Amino acid sequence: MKPFRIRLTLIIMLLLAVLGLAAAFTMAHIYKSSHEQTLEDNMLREIRLLETTFDFQAVGTEGQPANSILDYYTQQAQQIGKLTDSRVTFIELDGTVIGDSETDPRGMNNHSTREEIVAAKQDGVGSAIRYSSTLKENMLYVAAPVNKGDTFNGYIRLSMSLTAVEDGVRSAWTIMGISLLVLFIVAALVSYYVAASLTRPLEHITRVANRISRLDYGARVKLERQDEIGELGKAIDNMADSLEMQLKVIRDNEDLLQSVLANMTGGMVMVDDGGKIALVNRFAEEMLSINSRRMIGRPYHELKQHYELSRLLGEGLRRKERIHDEQTLYNPEPRLIEIDGVPMFEDDDAYRGMLFLIQDVSNIRRLERMRSEFVANVSHELKTPIAAVKGFAETLLSGGVNDEQTARSFLQIIYDESERLNRLIGDILELSKIESKRSPLEFSPIHLQSFFETIREMLNSSAAKKKITMEMNVPEELFMEADEDRLRQIFVNLISNAINYTQDGGMVKLAVHETMSERGEERIVFDVTDTGMGIPRKDLPRIFERFYRVDKARSRSSGGTGLGLSIVKHLVELHHGIVTVESEVHIGSTFTVNLPLLQGDEYDL
Ligand code: ADP
Repeated sequence: MKPFRIRLTLIIMLLLAVLGLAAAFTMAHIYKSSHEQTLEDNMLREIRLLETTFDFQAVGTEGQPANSILDYYTQQAQQIGKLTDSRVTFIELDGTVIGDSETDPRGMNNHSTREEIVAAKQDGVGSAIRYSSTLKENMLYVAAPVNKGDTFNGYIRLSMSLTAVEDGVRSAWTIMGISLLVLFIVAALVSYYVAASLTRPLEHITRVANRISRLDYGARVKLERQDEIGELGKAIDNMADSLEMQLKVIRDNEDLLQSVLANMTGGMVMVDDGGKIALVNRFAEEMLSINSRRMIGRPYHELKQHYELSRLLGEGLRRKERIHDEQTLYNPEPRLIEIDGVPMFEDDDAYRGMLFLIQDVSNIRRLERMRSEFVANVSHELKTPIAAVKGFAETLLSGGVNDEQTARSFLQIIYDESERLNRLIGDILELSKIESKRSPLEFSPIHLQSFFETIREMLNSSAAKKKITMEMNVPEELFMEADEDRLRQIFVNLISNAINYTQDGGMVKLAVHETMSERGEERIVFDVTDTGMGIPRKDLPRIFERFYRVDKARSRSSGGTGLGLSIVKHLVELHHGIVTVESEVHIGSTFTVNLPLLQGDEYDL
């Protein structure tokens, strides 16, 4: 495509050329014809002069004129020709030449049919331009009839060379040609400049529009003009503004969607109607251990490592209806996943493919299992004391009351068992309260030495019963922040366990000291050590589980519920601490509780 400015320049040039040439031709023509006219007029005047002043000799009327007459006219013609710088010819009425300044009339043809003679005969004056083969140039012939009665009746013809006129025309052409050329060049430059100034803003607008179409939405025309081109520029700028804004809205939406997809705690896989994977979110990537960048655009059955899953995806795509299934994924450890497939339709009901939501339900199922195990455990734990109460009550009813001593011991058992039942129910309620986080902790400063003093008083009698020495080593001025009732629950549980699982005459020690954690935070470490029977290594990892007991019979005889340590663990964790145990069979155990000195803001989640 030729740029517009070149085309415009060429059109202007063409117009100028046509106009210039037309003007030049017209001028040349006028110049030439006016010169010829003047020449013709002059020649006619000369003929008229000759008519009145020339001394005509009688030519005679019959036949060929005499030689002397021919000589006379020829001589006269030569003389006049020299004077007027022209060719002079005397011609009789019938066309016979009787004298000529250039040629001998005797060798000349009859001139009656010559154009100028024919015209002179008709109109009184005749003229013609012809190429003279004698003189080898263009000649102007002018003839007029002359009637001198008996002496001469015919025509005088003058002819002059047109070379002078033609030379003039030629030099005029040269001057006009040069000026036309100059005009042409100047016009070319001016029109190119004008065209360029007209098209430059258009080219600028085109460039900006191209940048915008190449997604450079920051490009602007910024033309300070009040005309139509300025309006066009403004319109393009407005369009770019609105495009940029729309794009921002689209990008924001996309970012929002992306972050929703990326942060979803569920996997999402979209498969289009052609069976190609169109979208995989981060969760699904992790769960299926695939790379979304590699998988997008690939057929779904390339998820070969999850054969069952890809089979299900295929089924969903085929059926185009909701599907639901649970499968185990090996990745490599087994995970239970729940898959929901939903067909996607566009506004016009066109099928777009399937959206699969993948949830990891391993934890939910595990919790469900734990819950039902818990219920089974609880019922089992409740059944034992109730069965005892029921059994002894039955024995008493069927006559056992009569023997007072037996009756007393049975009633004592019934009392003890109902006590245990009470404790058990209390512990279960406590545990579920802690687990459901129904009652929030109330932190307050606690003076540890006096705090442990009350615990010692509480447990003194049971220790004394077993002749167990209790030793408490608490720094005097140590305070900490905690929920006092819960903290008491922790240590009453740990210390009474230590007393319970230690033989008579043993020792239970509590040591408290401050430390600094790796993160530079002050913490307090409590060690509850006993010289008891210890816990076998294999049981250590499970000891904090609900209802877990190392030795069921012994735990029961000591009145334990099997829930104490799991309550301890929960309460310690609520205080942002950890509890650990070290133990050796027949030597003793140490339970270590590590708690922060202050319950800082960073814990308020
Ligand atoms: P229980 O009510 O039976 O004491 P816990 O949850 O408090 O239940 O303890 C779980 C089990 O851990 C106990 O049954 C006991 O076998 C063992 N255990 C707890 N503390 C000690 C300890 N200081 N020495 C030895 N064994 C202990």
